[in-house]
Amino acid sequence: MKQEIRSKVADLYTSPLFKFNLKYARQQSPDQMFVLSALHGLLPMDQEIDPYELTLNTMKSAQIKEWSELVLNQLREFTDLENDHFTFLAGMKYRKFLVPQMNHVNVPLEGLGIGKQLQKLKKMTSGNAVTSPCAKIHEIGRNLERFRFPYDDTNIPKNGLYLLFEKGESGHHGDRIVRIGTHTGANQLKSRIKQHFLNENKDRSIFRKNIGRSLLNRRNDPFLEFWELDLTARKAKDQYSDQIDFEYQAKVEEEVSEYMRTNLSFSVIEIPEKSGRLEIESKIISTVSWCEECGGSGDWLGQYSPKDKIVKSGLWLVNELYKTPYYSQNEIQLILNKKS
Ligand SMILES: [Zn+2]
Repeated sequence: MKQEIRSKVADLYTSPLFKFNLKYARQQSPDQMFVLSALHGLLPMDQEIDPYELTLNTMKSAQIKEWSELVLNQLREFTDLENDHFTFLAGMKYRKFLVPQMNHVNVPLEGLGIGKQLQKLKKMTSGNAVTSPCAKIHEIGRNLERFRFPYDDTNIPKNGLYLLFEKGESGHHGDRIVRIGTHTGANQLKSRIKQHFLNENKDRSIFRKNIGRSLLNRRNDPFLEFWELDLTARKAKDQYSDQIDFEYQAKVEEEVSEYMRTNLSFSVIEIPEKSGRLEIESKIISTVSWCEECGGSGDWLGQYSPKDKIVKSGLWLVNELYKTPYYSQNEIQLILNKKS
């Protein structure tokens, strides 16, 4: 099916199969994209051409071979047949003499009739399609019960992971995960979450400390220098106590609480065993940090962090980033099903 007037290649073909193929191809962000035309051979997407009626489907093999030679010569001008990776969405007759001349070829719709091709293309191009392990983690996290301050913790398990979301941050078609965390001691999940949201002591929660660092840094507040000090040890407290404005520190703690309670929400995944918990936490953090499809927005508070790792990863985290990620959605589904 084609337009009746001269059009750009991308608009000339009007069949649903072509439209979905085009959408799929664009989603793959290839370096180059062409249409294989029985009349013109290789066509760049923005070239204007007149409507025509010609198809390889009714041609004899010798003619198709001749046509393929022409296309291969055109392809050699734009691509490297030996080293480039090619994805074919075109039908069998269009690709059969081309494929053997290339080293890296992918035919995602191979062997499918038109109906099945359409079905598969619709699935692959639908907005909600889960396409990466990070998207899968987001999907799982968003489907769980969401806790917002002031929350009722009766439904929070004793042991597990929490996934934090932040207002204004989105990724993978929904709220974006900005932190993944767990606890080390047995049965401490609830109290770990309390340390973030309720206990106003930055030295007991690295997360609170990091939120405070960004709030102070955003307004060039010189108190940042004192906020950095860890006053947990008696000795440190004695050493710095006459330099620190504790009243102001308490105000900043309040600000941190206010920010967290207003902007953060979380879901939890129950994982009873400590070893599994730490391993799964590390893998989730790595997966999300490696993901190129989601990250901090321009307005995200974390952009003001003095910690490079937070700015770069888009996560309120500095550990377990960029280690071993999950490689497939199935791996995540299996592990999380088994544990919860
Ligand atoms: Zn992601």
